[in-house]
Amino acid sequence: MIRIAIQSKGRLNEESLALLQSIGIEVDTPKRKLLSKSLTFPIEALYLRDDDIPQVVAGGTATLGIVGLNEVEERGADVDVVCRLGFGACRLSLAVPKGEAYDGPSWFNGRRIATSYPEILGKYLKKNNIDAKVEVITGSVEIAPAVGIADAIFDIVSSGSTLIANGLKEVETVFESEAVLIANKDRGAEEQAVIDDLLFRIESETVSRGKKYLLMNLPKSSLDEAIKILPAMRSPTVMPLANEDWCSLHSVIDAADLWTKVRQLKAIGAEGILVMDVDKIIL
Ligand code: ATP
Ligand code: MG
Repeated sequence: MIRIAIQSKGRLNEESLALLQSIGIEVDTPKRKLLSKSLTFPIEALYLRDDDIPQVVAGGTATLGIVGLNEVEERGADVDVVCRLGFGACRLSLAVPKGEAYDGPSWFNGRRIATSYPEILGKYLKKNNIDAKVEVITGSVEIAPAVGIADAIFDIVSSGSTLIANGLKEVETVFESEAVLIANKDRGAEEQAVIDDLLFRIESETVSRGKKYLLMNLPKSSLDEAIKILPAMRSPTVMPLANEDWCSLHSVIDAADLWTKVRQLKAIGAEGILVMDVDKIIL
């Protein structure tokens, strides 16, 4: 049985549990218990605040954890980042009041910057030879300039709408983050075997995310062109139809390309195009 630390509530909680569920690992939700064994996999979930997850994994109380890379970096935790998980994407950025004539990082010299991420900010300032004063506050960082606590902020940004709502503009992106799976460095062979199994499942899940399965009827004369439009995992599947001038073509594509590809396929005579979700892809 290995233990995985998961955020008890907050932005990563739901998607962490959804990821586990999608790979066949059912655990109780944190509203019921702080520690919860899975009945379908040799794992138990420990629900914590995200700030505590890197250290708990570094110290071995949990072998695994799901947490933002920003927290791992900020805590300087000595853990292995096993894989990126494709959700919780955000960045740590410097932002200044929108009326400022910002002319590059040297603008921060002699200025006060409010943040909950003093370690990551400190490294950035040092690397860029900036002499600024770091004001550590744990929440509501974005209001710091308006209330006079600081001249600028260093905070998490995802859409940027919070910055705009607070009269700020993003001027430097310092750190790109997403949710990651982290592991204790002293794990044994048995724990590694469980992790390998978990990774195999996660990979099939992340590979299939954002993919669509396309199925269509196509005049055989358009097949070469269609194959150029649809570079599938190996190559598209072509199946005969009762009408010998036509065939059925199957392929997997990135969801982001769906509408462009569908238009191209229509233009070369494809008909009856079916678009389906992909549950898992085992490479
Ligand atoms: P906890 O109570 O567990 O300490 P928290 O308030 O510190 O929670 P959340 O706001 O739930 O943290 O964010 C958790 C993580 O989600 C962040 O550390 C970051 O990796 C990620 N994240 C993604 N987008 C955003 C965003 N727009 N704002 C804040 N965090 C984000
Ligand atoms: Mg936190």
